[in-house]
Amino acid sequence: MTGRVLVLGGTGEGRRLAAALAGAGIDVVSSLAGRVADPALPPGRVRIGGFGGVAGLVAWLREAPTAAVVDATHPFAAGMTATAAEASAATGIPLLRLQRPGWTARPGDDWRWVDSLADAAAAVAGFGSVFVTTGRQGLAAFADVPGHCLVRSVDPPSPPLPRRATVLLDRGPFDVAAERALMGEHGVEVVVTKDSGGPMTAAKLTAARELGLPVVVVRRPALPQGVPVAATVGAAADWVRSHAI
Ligand code: NAP
Repeated sequence: MTGRVLVLGGTGEGRRLAAALAGAGIDVVSSLAGRVADPALPPGRVRIGGFGGVAGLVAWLREAPTAAVVDATHPFAAGMTATAAEASAATGIPLLRLQRPGWTARPGDDWRWVDSLADAAAAVAGFGSVFVTTGRQGLAAFADVPGHCLVRSVDPPSPPLPRRATVLLDRGPFDVAAERALMGEHGVEVVVTKDSGGPMTAAKLTAARELGLPVVVVRRPALPQGVPVAATVGAAADWVRSHAI
């Protein structure tokens, strides 16, 4: 099938896939949600902003011949992932989910798995100093956490924030020594993270292990049924080549 390839992005994998496809002469359009003020832009064409739900994405896919869609959004961008699956089913345009593997605990790790940000907030209720690294969305879940929260995000979070919060604006990649120093400086007793996977933000896990700190890890949302999954950019590029040339 010929036509453009839509990459739903907002991740390093999305950027790298767009670069690989553009480099191979494929007409790639990357889509970003528009949440980050100064996004790292991928090569090729870029569109920014929501589509307007399933109907909006279906309309966009039908505006011009579209050979395939790769959903390379973050593992926790469940809304966009569900929308992509429904729009693919409605249009018959093939869809691939590109999702990096989750993290795996190593010897010495004290990880406590939970199913949601609300469960993570409950799990840290007994700690005096909490490092919240789950991003700027969903912080309302931590509004009643009694301990002090060091909240790190790329862009400023909007209220409600934890009652006692220090906000640190920073973007990965982070390194282990700096993470250890940061945790020491703020007297961090427990770290909260999503199971985002990948190397960009994994240093906090190593730092927590070295410092003997527990980590509350939020499980990923389930993937839609019937959508093939690739774990690497290379595998996704191969899939696109088999559908779009
Ligand atoms: P979400 O909850 O799944 O999506 C909410 C809505 O935002 C979607 O229904 C869609 O709006 C729009 N949207 C999301 N991703 C889009 C994209 N790539 N292109 C166009 N519209 C998009 O998503 P989210 O968790 O807010 O994440 C937003 C973006 O940030 C994603 O691109 C994701 O890859 C990135 N990100 C998310 C996280 C995280 O922890 N959730 C972390 C790092 C990066 P319409 O319904 O109007 O189409």
